[in-house]
Amino acid sequence: MGDRKSRQIIRRALDNNPDAFIAVVGCYSQISPDKVIEIQGVKLVVGTNERAKIVELVEYAMDKEEKINMVSDIMEVREFEEMSIKNYKSRTRAFLKIQEGCDQYCSYCIIPYARGHIRSRRPESILEEVKQLAQNKFKEIVLTGIHVASYGRDLGNTSLIEIIELLHEVEGIERIRMSSVEPKTLNDEFIERLTKLPKICRHFHLSLQSGCDATLKRMNRKYTTEEYLRVVDRLREVFPEVAITTDLIVGFPGETEEEFKCTVDFIKRVDFSGMHVFKFSPREGTPAAEHKNQVSPQVKEQRSKIITAIAHDRELTFKNKFLNKKMDVLFEHKVEGQSSIYEGLTDNYIRVFAASEQDIKGIILPVELKAIKEDHIEGMLV
Ligand code: SF4
Repeated sequence: MGDRKSRQIIRRALDNNPDAFIAVVGCYSQISPDKVIEIQGVKLVVGTNERAKIVELVEYAMDKEEKINMVSDIMEVREFEEMSIKNYKSRTRAFLKIQEGCDQYCSYCIIPYARGHIRSRRPESILEEVKQLAQNKFKEIVLTGIHVASYGRDLGNTSLIEIIELLHEVEGIERIRMSSVEPKTLNDEFIERLTKLPKICRHFHLSLQSGCDATLKRMNRKYTTEEYLRVVDRLREVFPEVAITTDLIVGFPGETEEEFKCTVDFIKRVDFSGMHVFKFSPREGTPAAEHKNQVSPQVKEQRSKIITAIAHDRELTFKNKFLNKKMDVLFEHKVEGQSSIYEGLTDNYIRVFAASEQDIKGIILPVELKAIKEDHIEGMLV
């Protein structure tokens, strides 16, 4: 699906402007450079590790007659590609990439082949950028990467929890949020250290993918449902009102009715506050794509509907707990088309709208939550 969309966008770019110079950059070109270069109109193909040099590469290729393929072997790359933020448009939440690549090889995923081995950004470089972000009035840092949990393994002398502790010291930063982490990362010691850090957002996105151990094994995920549940229970013990969100794949090859039922029971037991549900789609070059027992599109659709309905219901139950309560909201921007309504997030990931005559962008303010709407809660500044 992703490949097809990429090809459509490339063609659309050419339709919009037949004289455009078209360079294709990223995972699709890294995995299939030969296919991409064949697409009519494409002049330059760049992989996932030369992005910082894109301007020079385009300048170099512009006056050449022939098409140019600059994709290098990503598996050879061992250094984190530094691309820090130089200009700031919004001043609320900053997504900070601390890690690249993945060595997990989940059986459905192409990312290890597209992004290569894990490479962690040096702590000094991360700290420097976060100080800069704080000076530029950012209040929240979201730590991102391809597999954030493995941060530091290649450097040897640091780890994810150490980086979080380091950034926690930066004055001006009021919230630190982790993007997706693997449940096993959050062992007892890690959670214990997190509890000492008041700036940590009470929101953890723990990728589940399946609630059945047999399916997880085929997916080559490295945890069991029992281990997963233990982490969730511990987080709920130490962080009141914590939001636990997840990703789930339905219709993974070989997923039987019993396996799916197992997943349904498990997600009800965990009681997520938010879920992203994906129907399995085979990626060429991965073991799961070769699996004989592919699930039919109709069954995938049906299973996706069942999980989505449960997810929706649980999300509502979670939000309901906060009605008429006061929560701190970091306001990000005005709601589109509304002159005095601002939107922002609580630390436990509830999107909130509130009216204000003053500019409250980039400020954390207490809000009383009043009414649940489609994708947010309406509240009043207090
Ligand atoms: S799903 Fe995530 S952990 Fe698994 S291989 Fe892909 S990027 Fe790595």
